[in-house]
Amino acid sequence: MILAVLKEKAGENRVSLVPEVVKQLVQQQVEVWVEAGAGAGAYYTDEAYLEAGAVLKPRADMLRQADLLLSIRPPDQEDWAQAGAGKIWTGVYQPLYHPGLMRQWADRQFTVFSLDTVPRTTRAQSMDVLSSQANIAGYKAVLLAAYTYSRYFPMFMTAAGSIPPAKVLILGAGVAGLQAIATARRLGAVVEVFDTRPAVKEEVMSLGARFVEVDGAADASAAGGYAVEQSAEYQRKQEAKIAESAAKADIIITTAQIPGKPAPVLISQEAIAKMKKGSVIIDLAAATGGNTALTKNAETVEHDGVTIIGDSDLAGKAPADASKLYARNVLNFLKLIISKEGQLQLNFEDDIVKGACIVHGGAIVNDRVKQLQP
Ligand code: NAD
Repeated sequence: MILAVLKEKAGENRVSLVPEVVKQLVQQQVEVWVEAGAGAGAYYTDEAYLEAGAVLKPRADMLRQADLLLSIRPPDQEDWAQAGAGKIWTGVYQPLYHPGLMRQWADRQFTVFSLDTVPRTTRAQSMDVLSSQANIAGYKAVLLAAYTYSRYFPMFMTAAGSIPPAKVLILGAGVAGLQAIATARRLGAVVEVFDTRPAVKEEVMSLGARFVEVDGAADASAAGGYAVEQSAEYQRKQEAKIAESAAKADIIITTAQIPGKPAPVLISQEAIAKMKKGSVIIDLAAATGGNTALTKNAETVEHDGVTIIGDSDLAGKAPADASKLYARNVLNFLKLIISKEGQLQLNFEDDIVKGACIVHGGAIVNDRVKQLQP
């Protein structure tokens, strides 16, 4: 079979496969086509892909002739309109937020695997792109905050006087939040954390941070490890407690998300007005609306001396390692749908293949996406 790696659109520096992963696929009898310059944004050269056994091909040939097309972000309409029926697309297509596009792809008779919907199970961990990328985003968020902040992170006692440690508040202790805690602690900050899932309390504490509890969170045990929407009463209590912590914080990193829903607004404009001048908020939930009332996606907002950076794309700001980990996730997934002889074998009895499949046989096959209105 022929597998094609498309060059991403402007603004996305990552690439679906890196040369070392191409090499493994080629050894597995897969023919790998790469668009010229596909890896340039992540510092993987065309020569490195050629050495790994890939063939450089024009995009139009890939769209028409390859069996499986890899892109991290959804391709533009002009691309997918050129691709023939039966093509398999694999990437991160956020189908819960793009049901209309999924409908159109079903009409084109594509098979679509969206790696952000693989189940969060132990067996699927090596294919979990949300985790590999969120881990980088959490790390980068702290570095971006440290760079933007006008003071030190660690405590210093010097002959010229003492500097207290920065106070970091982290909202949401999922994969990104936990990495942000670890990174902020390594830089010497004092860290406080909120999450609606009490299950994360121990992990937070083991990283040396304080977990602030708010009673009465909705039971999320049936949500596969994810958060669920909270009652108005809980939201009111939580917002008040977060505002108290925010007023003392120097840095806030927000990561709270509810899959398929807008991000919860956890910090009001009034709470921001009470924050210290010079404090910095990094909002990783910006793309789904943001965790603060003033977040603007992909923008930096200055409000009353507080800098609010809305950036859900921080993994892409470490494109070399982000691509390396992403490519490993893709390889592990491809091993489930490509035989040792390099032939396509779709086994929908496999819970990971089934979970990642959004569109197949001219229809949307994912139950959650099916229920959404385009
Ligand atoms: P996410 O990006 O969907 O959300 C980030 C965090 O925000 C979550 O911890 C969530 O509880 C929290 N949150 C949501 N609403 C909130 C609110 N109102 N206030 C405060 N916090 C709020 O989450 P994620 O990082 O993708 O991880 C989700 C879960 O999946 C975690 O339990 C994680 O450990 C688990 N997971 C399991 C596996 C596996 O077993 N293979 C792999 C990855 C993640």
